[in-house]
Amino acid sequence: MSHYKAPVEDISFILYDLLNAQQLAELPVYADASEDMFRAVIDEAAKLAEQVLQPINASGDQEGCTFDPEQKTVTTPSGFIEAYKTYQEGGWSGLSSPPEFGGQGLPHLLKIVVDELCCSTNLSFGMYPGLSHGAIDLLSQHGNAEQKAYYLPKLNEGVWTGTMCLTEPQCGTDLGLITTKAEPQSDGSYAITGTKIWITGGEHDLSDNIVHLVLAKLPDSPAGSKGISLFVVPKFMEDGDRNPAFCGGLEHKMGIKASATCVMNFEGAKGWLVGEPNQGLKCMFTMMNAARIMVGIQGLGLAETGYQVSLNFAKDRLQSRSLSGAKEPNAKADPIIVHPDVRRMLLKQKVFTEGSRAMAYWTGLQQDLSHQASTPEEKERADDLFQLMTPVVKSYLTDEGYFSSDAGLQSMGGAGFTQDWPLEQLLRDGRIARIYEGTNGIQAMDLVGRKLTMKGGQLARTYFDEMSKLVSGVSNDLHKSNCQAMLAQLQEALGWLMKHALSDPEQAGAIASPLLRMFANATLAVMWANMAKLASESAIQARYSGDFLTGKTKAAEHFFRLHMPEQKALLDDITAGKDSIMALAANEF
Ligand SMILES: Cc1cc2nc3c(=O)[nH]c(=O)nc-3n(C[C@H](O)[C@H](O)[C@H](O)COP(=O)(O)OP(=O)(O)OC[C@H]3O[C@@H](n4cnc5c(N)ncnc54)[C@H](O)[C@@H]3O)c2cc1C
Repeated sequence: MSHYKAPVEDISFILYDLLNAQQLAELPVYADASEDMFRAVIDEAAKLAEQVLQPINASGDQEGCTFDPEQKTVTTPSGFIEAYKTYQEGGWSGLSSPPEFGGQGLPHLLKIVVDELCCSTNLSFGMYPGLSHGAIDLLSQHGNAEQKAYYLPKLNEGVWTGTMCLTEPQCGTDLGLITTKAEPQSDGSYAITGTKIWITGGEHDLSDNIVHLVLAKLPDSPAGSKGISLFVVPKFMEDGDRNPAFCGGLEHKMGIKASATCVMNFEGAKGWLVGEPNQGLKCMFTMMNAARIMVGIQGLGLAETGYQVSLNFAKDRLQSRSLSGAKEPNAKADPIIVHPDVRRMLLKQKVFTEGSRAMAYWTGLQQDLSHQASTPEEKERADDLFQLMTPVVKSYLTDEGYFSSDAGLQSMGGAGFTQDWPLEQLLRDGRIARIYEGTNGIQAMDLVGRKLTMKGGQLARTYFDEMSKLVSGVSNDLHKSNCQAMLAQLQEALGWLMKHALSDPEQAGAIASPLLRMFANATLAVMWANMAKLASESAIQARYSGDFLTGKTKAAEHFFRLHMPEQKALLDDITAGKDSIMALAANEF
């Protein structure tokens, strides 16, 4: 059943009117990335999502992947091979990769939009090329000339896919505990031995080869995370021989059942060092940063579908009469969208989805500017914002995307819980996004422990400077003062952190998650205030429908009603510090 239509009106409003994405075409490297080019690519991506990926989403969930223990092979659900071929032949794999090795060199911002549409319609499918994209980023930045020339053209073409092999049974968050070994060989390669678990796309039938990027330890390497190196380990070698990197089984899991989550056994597999010895974790962070934004987009994509489904349902489903008198007197009851409690749920979804899209695309724009802006100062400024916002986008969009879909399911009553509607699958699929690529708790620790301390606190200074510029143009006085208040509360929380966490790191651990949320709330406030301002400008009226624009203005009011008090509550939570959190002994729980 088809439920989803790509939200092109909102995407256009955010890209071309709010963010002025056209500015990218002024940079020599993106000279082709005009508004027309953006529109053409997004239209094609919408067709791919609606017509190719959406039809195999529910069937893929029901069928799942299958493992053949004899052959050690994995079969993806019906239709996935054909869909991947369409994706690969459409040139989507290397969309934003540098052209030097076969990428199309288009902006990351455009890739984020395409990712959103794919995640909205088939999250499991999106995982296969998604991991390849991370591998492309990593090898582009850290591979040697030979590795780039050998792997990148095939990965960009999509005939090979990539994986990220970090997790082992005894270590997920704490990668310092890994035990996979890399023994140097006389030919300059390494023999990789160990077991990795939960490896997305570790084995499947979609591509000719699979390129594993594996964290392992060299002999005599320092203990902990300082002694980890990175290796590239292909499934098939150049001469066609099978490398002994075999799938040992598939994980049985709550959602994304069409994505192969594999145990991978490396049995002396041939690998080659990427980057410097013992610098593997640093290199891997390249892949993880790109992947973290993509995972945030998964939360947004799923929430958009959940919103569309529950909104349409609420307009059709007839139950009870409106409290202010019958709205459809000729029908037996009114549609449930008349009920204030249902509206609360729908508005939660609308406010989250549209605000988060603006925040995520704005962050994607910073990613492009951080690489390609005209001056070193502009690049550094954009990089500060991108680095700071990466854990915020990953964490907030996946947490709230999940809760937004949950509100959608609730608004549909029993129908939402059944497999007749896609909400139950959306919730099961979306749950993992809060866990992988570093749990959301670890994202908050990354924000507090790394991002806020980098360059002596410069990232936060750049953030406040940028936000105050964006607020200065807001014409609605109340919106402006609301934004200023929410930013001031965030600053107060940072002041508290500085005062208490330097001498007691547990204080930082205790407040990390609410602090990340305060960053998200403040950024969303600035986005909503600017969207409301735009929607009221006469120049824009001709390009968008009246309902779309008045819907924006009214939703902005609801955003502030919901999130102003939340910001204050989060500040109170933070300034209460760790005491009640750390008070109980383990046996008192
Ligand atoms: C479907 C799926 C696909 C995956 N794909 C991949 C993949 O392709 N490649 C790969 O390498 N891995 C993959 N993973 C693994 C995933 O990245 C890990 O599950 C995740 O990083 C968390 O590690 P863990 O599960 O071992 O949890 P743990 O590290 O055991 O953490 C358990 C809990 O403790 C918390 N915690 C741990 N340490 C701290 C701390 N210092 N401070 C605060 N809280 C802490 C965590 O936030 C979490 O809530 C996948 C997992 C799943 C389920």
